[in-house]
Amino acid sequence: MTTLLLHYPAHGHTKAQHPESRERMSAFLPALERQGLLSDLRQPAAAPATVEQLRRVHTMEHIEYVRHMSERGGGLLDQGDTYVTGETFELARLAAGACAAAVDLITTGEATNGFALVRPPGHHAETDRVGGFCIFNNVAVAARQAQVEHHVKRVAIVDFDVHHGNGTQDIFFEDDSVLFISTHLYAPYFYPGIGGMYEVGVGRGKGYTVNVPLPPHVGDHGYGRVFDELIEPRLTLFEPELILVSAGFDTHWRDPLALAGMSLTGIADITRKLIGYANNLCGGRILFVLEGGYQFDVLTMGVTNVFHALLGHDIIEDPIGPMTQEEYDVSGLLERLKQHYLLK
Ligand SMILES: [Zn+2]
Repeated sequence: MTTLLLHYPAHGHTKAQHPESRERMSAFLPALERQGLLSDLRQPAAAPATVEQLRRVHTMEHIEYVRHMSERGGGLLDQGDTYVTGETFELARLAAGACAAAVDLITTGEATNGFALVRPPGHHAETDRVGGFCIFNNVAVAARQAQVEHHVKRVAIVDFDVHHGNGTQDIFFEDDSVLFISTHLYAPYFYPGIGGMYEVGVGRGKGYTVNVPLPPHVGDHGYGRVFDELIEPRLTLFEPELILVSAGFDTHWRDPLALAGMSLTGIADITRKLIGYANNLCGGRILFVLEGGYQFDVLTMGVTNVFHALLGHDIIEDPIGPMTQEEYDVSGLLERLKQHYLLK
């Protein structure tokens, strides 16, 4: 059993005072070393994604726009939320290329599972535009890599970042070969403002987008129920050959950007469930890809907890504990979601 670590912190893609900065990733390697995990992980080399790999999920205009902005020295896009620096074109391609390299090793059996710690993140990047700190859609590039290069037919992407994975949804909305499942906070004025339960895909993709819009403070128990009662049965019906995970640690109650109300233990529990689904459904083939997470201690411990799980260790680190607020009861919402997504 081999677990991969892809560590591409993109030092040249950073902006002062911006939450999506290189500091997010500065503590990962020391923490993995301190926990004695680093020597058990394989760190393969990766190259920037080629234009051909990017074109599987983005338009040429989008790719050329990012290249052009980067060559000009960078600037602000997407009403100021998303930035590009002079190095972004190279580094954003490297983030996507690292995910593709991990997929190469996992689909060929050279590795079992892994976690791509990459930035800039990707799940808000749509076919033809950047958004929400994201430039290229890393997890989408990884899915297409499996399908185009390794003849994998069905890929499932589960996105538990607190924000809806609108970019990934956009890319696969008409596609029945990629099942996209997103759990996210769905509240007025909360980014990106879409991801309702009636967005289910179109054409042959209808039913292959599963949105789980959640109110604030769902917490560990509610999330656990969503995974057990909705996500596991939907994945089982789909029979994925590979599971990719858009892993955002902004679901934690202490994250400055959101209110999902999970603890580190709760997040570790859902990642362990996902690894269990991969073991049952697709030979353990699962790749986690970093998306959001803006409270540095939470992010670092959340990531090391995933590595413990991938390596089969029974260790969860959670010195912060659960939120003090009462959890929202998901029973009614979950019934509606099950009716909507499972009974057809
Ligand atoms: Zn997020």
